[in-house]
Amino acid sequence: MNNLRRIGVYTSGGDAPGMNAAIRAVVRTAIFNNIKVTGIFRGYEGMIEGDFTEMVSRSVSSIIQKGGTILKSARCPEFRTKEGRQKAYENIRHAGIDALVAIGGDGTFTGAELFSQEFGIPVMCIPGTIDNDLYGSDYTLGFDTSNNTVIDAIDKIKDTAASHNRLFFVEVMGRDSGCIALNAGVAGGAEAIMLPEKETAIDELIDLLAVAKDKNKTSMIVIIAEGDKNGGAYNVAKHVKEKFDFYDTKVSILGHLQRGGSPSSFDRVLATRMGYFAVNELISGNKSATVGIRGSTIVSTSLEEALRSKELKLDEELVTISRVMNI
Ligand code: ADP
Repeated sequence: MNNLRRIGVYTSGGDAPGMNAAIRAVVRTAIFNNIKVTGIFRGYEGMIEGDFTEMVSRSVSSIIQKGGTILKSARCPEFRTKEGRQKAYENIRHAGIDALVAIGGDGTFTGAELFSQEFGIPVMCIPGTIDNDLYGSDYTLGFDTSNNTVIDAIDKIKDTAASHNRLFFVEVMGRDSGCIALNAGVAGGAEAIMLPEKETAIDELIDLLAVAKDKNKTSMIVIIAEGDKNGGAYNVAKHVKEKFDFYDTKVSILGHLQRGGSPSSFDRVLATRMGYFAVNELISGNKSATVGIRGSTIVSTSLEEALRSKELKLDEELVTISRVMNI
């Protein structure tokens, strides 16, 4: 038996496909264990304003396949202040919420840790971000779906590139993390991949493209993470075009479509496992942790460790493999 009577669940920060599947799993696992659930709209903003809703099993019908988040998300500067968090606490207490499940990125987790420390509310955090840049989990919710979206776009771009001797520069999301660029670059058979974690000089890229041209490649794709140090796809394309005019150069910025869409099977199952695990951890007395997948096992990591460890998430072996594939 547990002492939990009511759990609050919210999504916060950047949205990601799979958040709805996680909400569904939290709601249904809690209700299965006779725990009531309050849905908190718009993350910390809704917590401060008391924008709450009672959630029952049917509240989460037919959402597992939907992108975005039915609870909405927001960025909330007021929660960074003690006064803001105090208001949020009063609403949480008034609603009879004993514990929280937060779904979001590291900003969301930082706010959750502070809140938990200040007011003694247990909180479990589920990593929901397409960037795959959180410590404590091999994969974050939305990363797999986002990769599939990017690959689908690259495949289509390749068709048109090959028909016209085109050199395409495709910019993908990832301000600090090159995970999407690297994975999509390998899966999409890109000629070069430019990552925020690795500096690739324009001259180096031009040499690489020249070698590819000498091998009679009729078209080429360069994937550029938005955080690449050369100033983004338009800038890279401009510099390459000046020195390398054999190809018709085009730029495509994929932008926010990478955040949308129906979650992949992988993300749905991962979200369901994580939501189930988060509620069971709260029932077992876990006070403050993140949920993650390591190998094929769902694990928890203390928020203290998750937020302060610096782990380079980029797969160095995959970087090497991507270069070998470009001979
Ligand atoms: P993400 O969770 O995707 O990283 P943000 O960094 O925008 O997104 O964080 C989401 C929200 O978490 C912020 O709008 C803010 O309300 C809260 N938050 C972030 N950092 C802090 C902090 N240092 N203290 C308190 N709340 C924070």
